[in-house]
Amino acid sequence: MTTPVFPNTNLLIAGERFPASNGAVHPTINPATAEKLIDVASATAEDARKAVDAAHNAFRHGPWPGLPATERGRILYKLADLLETHADEVATLESLDNGKPFFESRRIDVPLAVEALRYYAGWANKVHGEVLPVRGQFHTYTRHEPLGVVAAITPWNFPLLLSVYKVAAALTVGNTVVLKPAELTPLSCLRFGELGIEAGLPPGVLNILTGKGSVAGQALLEDPRVAKVAFTGSTPVGKSIMKSAADTLKRLSLELGGKSANIVFGDADLKAAVRGAINGIFYGKGEICTAGSRLLLHESIHDEFVEMLKTTAEGMKQGDPFDPKTRIGAQVSEAHMNSILAYIAQGCDQGARLVTGGERNVIGNGFFVKPTIFDNVTPGMTIAQEEIFGPVVAVMKFSSDDDAIALANDHMYGLAAGLWTNDLRRAHRLSARLEAGTVWVNTYNFYDPAAPFGGYKQSGFGRELGMHALSEYTQTKTVWIDLN
Ligand code: NAP
Ligand code: MG
Repeated sequence: MTTPVFPNTNLLIAGERFPASNGAVHPTINPATAEKLIDVASATAEDARKAVDAAHNAFRHGPWPGLPATERGRILYKLADLLETHADEVATLESLDNGKPFFESRRIDVPLAVEALRYYAGWANKVHGEVLPVRGQFHTYTRHEPLGVVAAITPWNFPLLLSVYKVAAALTVGNTVVLKPAELTPLSCLRFGELGIEAGLPPGVLNILTGKGSVAGQALLEDPRVAKVAFTGSTPVGKSIMKSAADTLKRLSLELGGKSANIVFGDADLKAAVRGAINGIFYGKGEICTAGSRLLLHESIHDEFVEMLKTTAEGMKQGDPFDPKTRIGAQVSEAHMNSILAYIAQGCDQGARLVTGGERNVIGNGFFVKPTIFDNVTPGMTIAQEEIFGPVVAVMKFSSDDDAIALANDHMYGLAAGLWTNDLRRAHRLSARLEAGTVWVNTYNFYDPAAPFGGYKQSGFGRELGMHALSEYTQTKTVWIDLN
């Protein structure tokens, strides 16, 4: 492990560092050991106002929105380079704070964040308006303009990555940002804010407001100068954000929860499908919005598949996130571990068959839950309905394509789905029928900055990534010039 270098843990507002206005701090904990890492400033509503002042001032009076687009892109490329240079350091902070294996932070979280920055840096000078063929003697054209101040509110499961997705898309088209990372995992975003200054972002363009959602986050929602809220988090908080944002009619994009169906057909490559099912539910210790937490197996392969799954799950090394062999880390907090264990107890009470796991893995004082497989799950059970957000998979059996689609779609969420089949016609036919924002065929949990990502149904709306996300951060102005 790289010796951790903690970032400055004060708020970053207008390019300067401030403690919270009332001096409050909160400790951030290492979930693999239950030990405190460091105290971090806990922003007040007054601090949130100050951060919006800075972002609003940078938008109205600062250079950022009016910079030549190529120059905005150049600064974002520089930020990508800096993040890449500091990848070991930032990935270390991420794993210490979140409990995920360093293998994942270093190979996935940080490189994908770098790629997303480069992807959007490239868009800076490629977003432009059109000249319109209107009736009469007019020169009429559109301008795709930034919205103004964007509040990005992000969760603890991919603290850096989900923040960078929002910040990169917002900044490339000229917005300014106040980022409120999750209270549990603020360190990587604080470091990212420092790198932003080093890259040359003007003061106030990217402000980092650590602290509680109910205080700092809520104050951002109430400030009329915030034009848009880009939120990733739970569906209940997403709904409350939508209500609060209504008062000042803020634009919204909401990336919310999921209970994704990963569907294995009788003709699939079973070894690949087992790997996909394991990656689908145990990657990120199951604390992933797209987790393939409902595993639907065709009756012809069900028994064999569950056996293979059990053997693979039991062979996965859990423990110290910095051991290169570790594939499952610690759940993010004690409270979250207990919530997962309570779901497991409900699964047992409601009659599902526990195949493996089902309990805390006692490794020091860390918050580890053993990889858990439930079989004989029925759609009405709590473990089939609710997002557990942990390493717990609910296996269900199906007998036909229609049966599989009904099971998959009969759910309030619609974030992602997986299909494992060698029948090309079935793959396309069923991809079209699945009510989900992403469908993976013969793969799972694959991401790329060019590929839009977001939910159907109560998994939210709006898209992150790809060119589609740019329209979430711009508004269109039409200009009419009378030529007579
Ligand atoms: P969460 O409790 O909804 O929190 C997300 C963020 O919102 C945190 O920064 C939180 O602050 C803040 N927040 C809480 N209450 C708020 C309020 N009243 N006003 C403004 N902000 C508020 O979610 P989480 O527990 O961190 O993350 C897990 C959830 O995120 C899961 O449901 C998961 O499915 C979802 N998720 C979705 C996606 C996706 O792309 N669809 C990706 C990842 C995760 P605190 O720090 O105080 O909690
Ligand atoms: Mg922590």
